[in-house]
Amino acid sequence: MKFCSECGNQIKQAIPKGDNRLRHICTHCDIIHYQNPKIVAGTLPVFNGKILLCRRAIEPRLGFWTLPAGFMENQETTTEAAIRETLEEAEAAVELEGLYTIINVPQIDQVHIFFRARLINEHYGAGEETLETKLFAPEEIPWNEISFPTVFQTLQHYIADHPLDHFPVHVKDIIR
Ligand SMILES: [Zn+2]
Repeated sequence: MKFCSECGNQIKQAIPKGDNRLRHICTHCDIIHYQNPKIVAGTLPVFNGKILLCRRAIEPRLGFWTLPAGFMENQETTTEAAIRETLEEAEAAVELEGLYTIINVPQIDQVHIFFRARLINEHYGAGEETLETKLFAPEEIPWNEISFPTVFQTLQHYIADHPLDHFPVHVKDIIR
């Protein structure tokens, strides 16, 4: 951040009184522009024991397979964001079945949240950010072509939990 979004003047980095971290502070109006992690919400959509994956049409990781997920919008809840992203990227209507993974990625200031979900019907397609969507049986998952570590971990948990029919919430950190 270089310029203040309130008044357009230059930003400096300093530790405000009573704080202990460097913040972006306006040199003119003194407003502190806090920066906090972003939340990515998505689903693990299942239909007849198969998992719906989307092949990415955009960078990063163009051509790799992902679970439908994306950045939350303002005024939105995590469940709304997960359902919306699934509709946008996979053109699939889902019913959520519970929180499944919360994965912190502190290096890039993100938290990824995935819900287990059930496809309401066998209708799915490729949204703007997707080349194709496909249902994969557990043994068909293209492990070498998975887009992101958070998606990889969520899928691995599902493959381990599914035979036991027990899906506890997994809270993990990805530290690079
Ligand atoms: Zn300012």
